[in-house]
Amino acid sequence: MNTPQLMKVLSSEVNLQILSILKSGSFNPRELARILQKDETDISRRLKMLERVGLVEGKWTRVRGKNIRVYSLKVGEVKISFGPGEVIIKTSENKSYEVPLLESKIPNVEKFFGRKTEVETLLSSEKAVIVIYGIAGIGKTTLAAKVFGNAFWYQMSEVDSFDYFVWQVGLFLNTLDYSLLLEYLRSGGREERDIFELMLEGVENTKAKIVVDDVHKCSDEKILKLLSFLALRIRKGRLVLISREKLHLGASENILYFHLKGLDLEDAYALLKAKGLHLDVSDFAEIYNLTKGHPLALTLFAGAYKDNRKIKADNVFDFLFNEVYQQLNSDEKLMLQIISLFDEPLEYEAIKVLYGKKNSFVVLYSLLNKGIIERRGEVYFLHDLLKGFARELREVDEREYYSRYLDYLLKKNTAKNFLTAFRYAVKLGDEKRIKDLTELRLRKFKRVVQDFPNAYMKILFQIKNNPYAKKELGSIYFQKGFFEKALNLWLEIKDEVDGIHRADVISSLTDVYMELNDFKEAEKYLKELESIAKSTDDVEIKFWYYVELTKFYFYMEKPEDALKSAFKELEIIREMEAYPELESAVLLHIGDIYVEMEKFEESVRYYIQSLEIAKAYSLTFMEHVSYMELAKVYYHLENYKTMVDYASKAADYFLRIRNYRRAADALSYRCLAYIALRKLDNAEKDAEGLIRIAQSTNYPLAWAGYIFLGIVKELEGEDGGEYFELGTERLKDYSWLYSAVLEEVGKVFDVSKITARP
Ligand code: ADP
Repeated sequence: MNTPQLMKVLSSEVNLQILSILKSGSFNPRELARILQKDETDISRRLKMLERVGLVEGKWTRVRGKNIRVYSLKVGEVKISFGPGEVIIKTSENKSYEVPLLESKIPNVEKFFGRKTEVETLLSSEKAVIVIYGIAGIGKTTLAAKVFGNAFWYQMSEVDSFDYFVWQVGLFLNTLDYSLLLEYLRSGGREERDIFELMLEGVENTKAKIVVDDVHKCSDEKILKLLSFLALRIRKGRLVLISREKLHLGASENILYFHLKGLDLEDAYALLKAKGLHLDVSDFAEIYNLTKGHPLALTLFAGAYKDNRKIKADNVFDFLFNEVYQQLNSDEKLMLQIISLFDEPLEYEAIKVLYGKKNSFVVLYSLLNKGIIERRGEVYFLHDLLKGFARELREVDEREYYSRYLDYLLKKNTAKNFLTAFRYAVKLGDEKRIKDLTELRLRKFKRVVQDFPNAYMKILFQIKNNPYAKKELGSIYFQKGFFEKALNLWLEIKDEVDGIHRADVISSLTDVYMELNDFKEAEKYLKELESIAKSTDDVEIKFWYYVELTKFYFYMEKPEDALKSAFKELEIIREMEAYPELESAVLLHIGDIYVEMEKFEESVRYYIQSLEIAKAYSLTFMEHVSYMELAKVYYHLENYKTMVDYASKAADYFLRIRNYRRAADALSYRCLAYIALRKLDNAEKDAEGLIRIAQSTNYPLAWAGYIFLGIVKELEGEDGGEYFELGTERLKDYSWLYSAVLEEVGKVFDVSKITARP
């Protein structure tokens, strides 16, 4: 192994994240990029590098005539030892390591003064939850970073949203070997209660330490609710909340409230001395009195100090900041102003692009050394306390910089950066860009509506009269199941948008009318969509048309026509830039249509193809939906053993990610297979499992557990009557479901024993 090369590879945080995620399974670069919110090309390049040094292993799998690269971890541990005249590197399997995550931007604490008692109090506290509060710049972040430096660090901002926060914590818990939360989110799970409980379970099981900085900035109700939920329940893990105001999390013995004040005399003196100031006692007393040991004020003072200048006491910060500012050269002033324009910390690359001159590195470091700019991980920012003052002195045109930043973000090609870019387009009030961005969402960031609906919705609400925003809001409502709301928005704006947007609305309207069982209206819009699709070369639009057409024929019970259209979808999707999720979904639909036509062998063929794609691209959710469909089709084929295998895979997964609707489906089919195989003990267990799900979720199908239990009793020679009655009673409001259950049961049991009861 090439030692320097290996060390270089290991020194990158992103590489470490990749390794840690591979610990939970094999991945294709695309899905890894989605999980890490990174550009796919970048992830591919890194994987190749990791492969070259022997840390990961890539394998080609051939799926439907295409070669797909799938990567897995080759080693579990890297050990470096120093021998006389050599460095020995050993790797071994099956050990885990913790890695820092990118979003975990732990502040630097290179120059830390004093705080001895504070550090001791925090270190010796046995409380699981600690709230550190105090005024801006007093040193909360610095102190927490010193004491909880190995924690997962989350920097809250005004624009934070629940889905993004949860995704990041899920990612972090995944590196500690708790994968359920991340898997739940990846599979599209959005139930607040589930997320709360999965996060609590994850933190407790892994004894995770999490710091959330600047909680006072958070305006997202759901995040605040989640933090209170955790604060009252965490026992084994650790949660540190930093805020300007004392947070009210409810009374609990579990929480330590810690009010942070200024540095004491000695520490304040040491700080000034370290910054090169040797004051006599009276001067020091005066400045201490004025600043009350406020570390940021002291730092500014050190930068501004000139002999025999009196400080005006009415606004210390304003005065000190101005003093420091006047002493900056013009390049420093420019960079400071640019950084102050942005709410979020900026990466060096962004600063370089925005500032635009050659000496950006030197200027940035000079500002850092003067203590004006601060660094956190790989990002740079101006302390909130100073931002206001800097903005007052502003001479630069903010629009120009926002616009430049927007372009910079879009080049980064991830959902997160797309959302930030959108926020700046809104700030600029630039309608053209807003329109272009919604098009980009349709073409490239389809998943934003699914993965980060809250974050996107928050931005869209700010421009909720813009027709393109309304159209996007409609998609979020549709995704969340609020069909009427979506419908109204789309009807409102359908004549106000053009191009691909018009096609999007018309196809969405077709879809929503079908969901609402209004097939006449659906057909009307489908016709319009057809003429749009025929008059364009845009494959995206053609694809939408065939998706709707397939669905329409399927509902109209014309499976032959639906099949033709579905194959057209498949043809187009394969022409487009690789879209594995969609391809896998189309293949599943083809399988479903063949089931309708009772061509079960054909169904199996297409379900297996869908399964292969899902596996190759690590689309875990699609993989298990495929297992589920396979289980069902093997029921028709009366191959109960195979059915049990597939249904078990599906049931285990859906139970794990708390998708009880699908879990009940899988358990029901497995139960029927056990009944067919006369494995009555197993069948009984599944029936009981179903009843438990029904009792806790009230999901209707799960009540069929009683009917299955009755069947087991009958087959054991007992009377199942009591259970049949219970089941029938529970299902009586869902007559279609009841007949569907009886139809399936009829294949393995004489249903007259159930229906012929008084
Ligand atoms: P807060 O989180 O309360 O707003 P920070 O932790 O960001 O405050 O501190 C503000 C500034 O003061 C930072 O530049 C930080 O480096 C400096 N500072 C705070 N505490 C100390 C300390 N104990 N020693 C040295 N510098 C400190």
